[in-house]
Amino acid sequence: HTVLGIETSCDETAAAVLRLEDGKATILSEIVRSQVEAHAPYGGVVPEIAARAHADIADKVVAAALEESGLAVTDLDAIAATSGPGLIGGVMVGMMTGKAIALAAGKPFIPVNHLEGHALSPRLAEDCPFPYLLLLVSGGHCQFILVKGLGDYTRLGTTIDDAAGEAFDKLAKLLHLGFPGGPAVEKAAETGDPARYKLPRPLLERPGLDMSFAGLKTAAARIIEAEDLSEQDVADLCASYQAAIADCLAVKADRAMAGFDGERLVVAGGVAANTAIRKALDAVAARHGARLIAPPLRHCTDNAAMIALAGAERLSAGEVPADAMMFSARPRWPLDEARAMSDPAYG
Ligand code: ATP
Ligand code: MG
Ligand code: FE
Repeated sequence: HTVLGIETSCDETAAAVLRLEDGKATILSEIVRSQVEAHAPYGGVVPEIAARAHADIADKVVAAALEESGLAVTDLDAIAATSGPGLIGGVMVGMMTGKAIALAAGKPFIPVNHLEGHALSPRLAEDCPFPYLLLLVSGGHCQFILVKGLGDYTRLGTTIDDAAGEAFDKLAKLLHLGFPGGPAVEKAAETGDPARYKLPRPLLERPGLDMSFAGLKTAAARIIEAEDLSEQDVADLCASYQAAIADCLAVKADRAMAGFDGERLVVAGGVAANTAIRKALDAVAARHGARLIAPPLRHCTDNAAMIALAGAERLSAGEVPADAMMFSARPRWPLDEARAMSDPAYG
């Protein structure tokens, strides 16, 4: 199946054309236009600016992806678009764009859960059969999910306050390192001493797989207020902060793997781009005789290839809801509710 995917749930406008044959995905084209510059002055994504920016370029990004793939709309089997969760204005732009193309071309439309895109993203590049234990770490989510199959997702634990990506973004904002925060903090941490500042590792003593990162930000804020930080101090703080997040994720991942008798630990979402975190999780997987699978960096952050893949997998499974055109964009849409599309409870 050949599917056009559209992603507009946050601050990247993205489109991709993907072919899924015998379970193997081939990306025929892929375009990601980031709005980072538009939001940078505000130190975070401004929903209204995001929605307008998506509306300005969504059609051009889709046209560019089609052109690069060498295919026409008539060659597609379906159009898939992120239909939630995310910033609702942006989601609506992408979803309406997808529906309009589908309607005009007489092709099926597939509403895709953005988190399902992240969850399936490792399957873009390599053989990553079900089941796997997924750590989804992004700007808005931080969750352990048991992925037993397409549409079969069980949430095992979640952050009870901030997501890990949010924690990175907040530190970067406190230190005026720029936006998005994750890459900026990682860069600053390169020359820092991770043992310099003692930062909390919340919830490690508590059983279960829930996580918490808000206290980490508060602790960092206290240090920043109390001292006049030198460049080296900033590097040390970033390194210590990154180490605290990596530790928390690794301890919980270790616990999750202890209760999972599969062979694959997958990390996906924007924070999965972080080298220190990948390293920590790699060690966890090895300890459990498992393999860590992490998508290439460009597929960790938001992209449309993962949305096209989710759509293609749904299409191959014969799971396109008859009333997909009626699907309403969902600002909140937990992954464990994204079950079989044939299930009346889908979405
Ligand atoms: P969600 O998928 O939960 O809706 P989102 O789409 O905004 O949220 P992503 O685009 O998957 O999230 O990831 C963006 C987040 O990843 C940001 O918080 C960003 O700071 C973080 N991030 C990106 N690169 C890195 C990195 N190298 N180290 C740490 N964090 C990173
Ligand atoms: Mg983003
Ligand atoms: Fe995302």
